[in-house]
Amino acid sequence: MNKTLQERKEIAFARGQANAAAVYVDRAQGSEVWDIEGKRYVDFGAGIAVLNTGHNHPKVKAAVQAQLEKFSHTCFVLTPYEGAVSLVEKLNAMAPGNTPKKSILVTTGAEAVENCVKIARAYTGRPGIIAFNGSFHGRTNMTMGLTGKVNPYKVGFGPFPNDIFHVAYPNAYHGISVEQSIEELKARFVCDIEASRVAAIIVEPVQGEGGFYRAPVEFLQALREICDQHGILLIVDEIQTGYGRTGKMFCHEYAGIEADLMTSAKGIAGGFPLAAVVGKADIMDAPIPGGLGGTYAGSPIACAAGLAVLDAIEEEQLCNRALKVGETFMEHLTALKAEYPDLVGDVRNLGSMIAMELVKDGDVNKPNPELTKALSAKAIESGLILLSCGVRGNVIRFLPALTIEIDLIDEGMAILKRSLKSLL
Ligand code: PMP
Repeated sequence: MNKTLQERKEIAFARGQANAAAVYVDRAQGSEVWDIEGKRYVDFGAGIAVLNTGHNHPKVKAAVQAQLEKFSHTCFVLTPYEGAVSLVEKLNAMAPGNTPKKSILVTTGAEAVENCVKIARAYTGRPGIIAFNGSFHGRTNMTMGLTGKVNPYKVGFGPFPNDIFHVAYPNAYHGISVEQSIEELKARFVCDIEASRVAAIIVEPVQGEGGFYRAPVEFLQALREICDQHGILLIVDEIQTGYGRTGKMFCHEYAGIEADLMTSAKGIAGGFPLAAVVGKADIMDAPIPGGLGGTYAGSPIACAAGLAVLDAIEEEQLCNRALKVGETFMEHLTALKAEYPDLVGDVRNLGSMIAMELVKDGDVNKPNPELTKALSAKAIESGLILLSCGVRGNVIRFLPALTIEIDLIDEGMAILKRSLKSLL
């Protein structure tokens, strides 16, 4: 029973590793999940933007099974294998921009971000890193330092590394313009650290954990210009936005810019732990041999899955599908906003990164985290896996598999509407 397992879990696990719902999974397929009590759920979370190709995609499953028959681990930095090389060749070719690319493979998103900082510092010989308010970059000490959201990620965990500075992220809905944000960035060079000591600026093209706010195209272009002007590297964190999620393979393609370094994780390997840093070849080669790596970095099973994910994205045209899925969600959400204008402050999407911001009295400045929490709990209880996010804790985020069937979207949205109604 879910209840019994949750009791055992709470005794065995430290409370810090909390779970959103006492739903213990038995099996999953596509965008459907069944728990150990046989109850079925529509999945609007896809393992937090990991299963872009859905649970147990047949191609990914077959590739992993075939790899398992051969070997499951050697340690790539000891005795490598072809799958990792083929995957990295593809990543280098796919990364936006014309400059020749090189990559490294690691295991988690935080590790990819952390390695970007290592590479940027080795290349520039500078210490400073600029990140944004509301950003999320991981749970290691460096990536916590970069993260611009205290609760729950940083509470009690400091001190964080030096020479990290935060700047307001543009946010039209909350009244922060691109100009304001760029002014704040420039003020850092006056008030905190000279531009010539800044190694990199790190930015999410759509803030994920922060609340699904999109960086306007002109903002990313302005960051590129400022970086070029001062010899600063631009790191684009595509961990949540990548792999077709926003309707492009990588989200910063919308801005037509080239990153110096890009992170990738989550959707890269259909649920197997894998992450990458892809960057301009001369920058990537700054650290000395042996300076980068890890025991599980580029696991052969994850690489086999990663190659199958790329095949599936291409064959099933999942970038286009992400747009279609996003449109379908937005039809439902726009209607919901019209029905509940006092509660639904904003609905927005970029492809299949879709969000609904909940407020009180229709006022952008009165966030409604209580309703957000109650709604996701009610939805899960009613058979819909739903996530929340946002610096104010008042955003429901929808991150479905890009392969999700339209009738499952309709079914899930009907559950969402019923759940909302029942709470009012
Ligand atoms: N960067 C971004 C933008 C993310 O969304 C996440 C995960 N939510 C991370 C970094 C950290 O990834 P991981 O949990 O795999 O360490």
